Amino acid sequence: SFDIREEKKDLTYPLIATDFVSMEEGTGIVHVAPAFGEVDFDAGMDKSLDFVQPVDLEGKITGAYSFAGKFVKDADHLILDELKSRNLLYRSEKIVHTYPFCWRCGTPLLYYVKQAWYIRTTAVKDKLISGNNGINWYPDHIKYGRFGNWLENNIDWAISRERYWGTPLNIWYCSSCGNYECVGSVSELKERPNLGGLKEPLDLHRPFMDGIYFACTKCGGEMRRVPEVIDCWFDSGAMFIAQWHYPFEDEDKFK
Ligand SMILES: [Zn+2]
Ligand SMILES: [Zn+2]
Repeated sequence: SFDIREEKKDLTYPLIATDFVSMEEGTGIVHVAPAFGEVDFDAGMDKSLDFVQPVDLEGKITGAYSFAGKFVKDADHLILDELKSRNLLYRSEKIVHTYPFCWRCGTPLLYYVKQAWYIRTTAVKDKLISGNNGINWYPDHIKYGRFGNWLENNIDWAISRERYWGTPLNIWYCSSCGNYECVGSVSELKERPNLGGLKEPLDLHRPFMDGIYFACTKCGGEMRRVPEVIDCWFDSGAMFIAQWHYPFEDEDKFK
């Protein structure tokens, strides 16, 4: 977890030593921005660096800068101009390097730190590994190869996706008190107090699920579903039991 620094004053500018900077390239000194990129974020968490986010979700610069409101890529030359006018520019040059672009429309992309929902799979890692030991794999090299290695290096599963279509994440949020509730089944949903917005026949997809609300058990406020959908690998992983409506029916088929 991190606190986003809106204020640009009182920031610290420490020098840190890390192993991801090569001495073979450049000066051996790189700038770290914890809000933009996984390596930078981890270094920021590790060394308690200030977390500054001067860019909004449209990729536009925020704050009181003369170039605020510009898309980051369009702001590059304006930032250079400002540094120059303040006598802070040491050197400016073009270099060729790799950069991510949208594969569909060619838009330059930004790495952007965002909050997401996780399943703490690391809490059941031993169980996952011992379960894999009991599976007959075809071809068998997958068992302790690709799949076994993946389990050994398991990290928590980032399960939420910010997309229009997908299985709706079954978490409702109360904006009055901040309470979250995870609804585990249709019958659990129908038991919720002051349930509204549910249309029959029930359709469990978006946008129908977004219209369903109920009363918060903590404060009585209105609970609405969070906007995220679930990683489609969750659907794939649940398919073999979901097709039998397990664990709500057909328990005998899994004994
Ligand atoms: Zn695109
Ligand atoms: Zn509440």
